[in-house]
Amino acid sequence: MSPPTKSVQNPPRRNAPPSPSNPPEIARALKCYTNVSKKGGNVMLIKSKNSYRLETNGRFCYVVALDSSHCPVCQTKLILRATRQRVLYRSEEEKEILLIRRLYCTKCNQIHHELPDCIVPYKRYSAEVIERATNGDACQDACSESTAARLRNWWATINPYFLHILRALVSRHGVVFGTPPTFKETVRAVVNSNSWIFANQICTYSVLRPQ
Ligand SMILES: [Zn+2]
Repeated sequence: MSPPTKSVQNPPRRNAPPSPSNPPEIARALKCYTNVSKKGGNVMLIKSKNSYRLETNGRFCYVVALDSSHCPVCQTKLILRATRQRVLYRSEEEKEILLIRRLYCTKCNQIHHELPDCIVPYKRYSAEVIERATNGDACQDACSESTAARLRNWWATINPYFLHILRALVSRHGVVFGTPPTFKETVRAVVNSNSWIFANQICTYSVLRPQ
């Protein structure tokens, strides 16, 4: 089966220059973002809700893929190499140990971690908890107020960059998103276009104030 060419699941990787329609400051920012080297880091891909299921067996929760996964960099079909444990907190008291698949791309010669969409890369809390926190909804039952505040700050910093990525995917590859795009949809598109970045790597654009 040939890999999809237009989908949120596997949008083609493109360290592309920004659209000419972007204002200059966004163009500069995008250029900065896309120059960040991915070498040496883990490449990830996120499975959407309908393409995996979770099966609990003893103390582990297996992430069972319902379809094949393709490399977010070159679209080659990935092969299973191993699994690894990933702890996920549904709340401060409720944690799961997920077994996620480590997949190998024979073309890129690189390992990819296949994540279910309940995981946000490098975050310990589930996507549902993080989404509630970033929306400003009450989530005291899941995490502390200081954690929720950190998550809100992270999202406020990173979301403008993520929205640029989504705009680029729409204009260049015809990917369709909801209006507005959901939290999970945004995270999945950014990860699957190989565009994930840490908040501290973002160079913010500022206008100098006249003295
Ligand atoms: Zn590849």
